[in-house]
Amino acid sequence: MAYTYDDQNIFAKILRGEIPNATVLETEHSLAFRDIQPQAPVHVLVIPKGPYVCYDHFASDASDAEIVDFNRTIAEVVTSEGLREGGYRIISNAGEAGVQEVPHLHIHVLGGRGLGRMLQPAR
Ligand code: 5GP
Repeated sequence: MAYTYDDQNIFAKILRGEIPNATVLETEHSLAFRDIQPQAPVHVLVIPKGPYVCYDHFASDASDAEIVDFNRTIAEVVTSEGLREGGYRIISNAGEAGVQEVPHLHIHVLGGRGLGRMLQPAR
């Protein structure tokens, strides 16, 4: 199944500067900014600047330079937000089962408090 990217999604608008954001870090290929509805004391979203819907789309089709830049940006956010010592969680929701709200790849970087268990036991 081909990936279809909707360039009207909210993060595409943020990347085009049509909607403001609280930027944490910007690199050649990536942008990190604060989630508008934080779920933890630190809640940063890291997105690639390229038009990728979800993680597997990015991992399959992005260039090596984009993939390296994206991962390094996540690491820099972890460090600059002071999460290395206390720990953190990174999450990327995809599609319907993953309950992805915005169809542009984003990694949630969460920390600053105990985050509890990741999921409920499988049923
Ligand atoms: P998802 O459910 O797709 O993994 O997460 C989407 C995230 O984007 C949510 O945590 C939501 O709060 C955040 N979000 C939605 N709209 C905006 C916005 O306009 N600005 C920012 N900074 N975050 C947003």
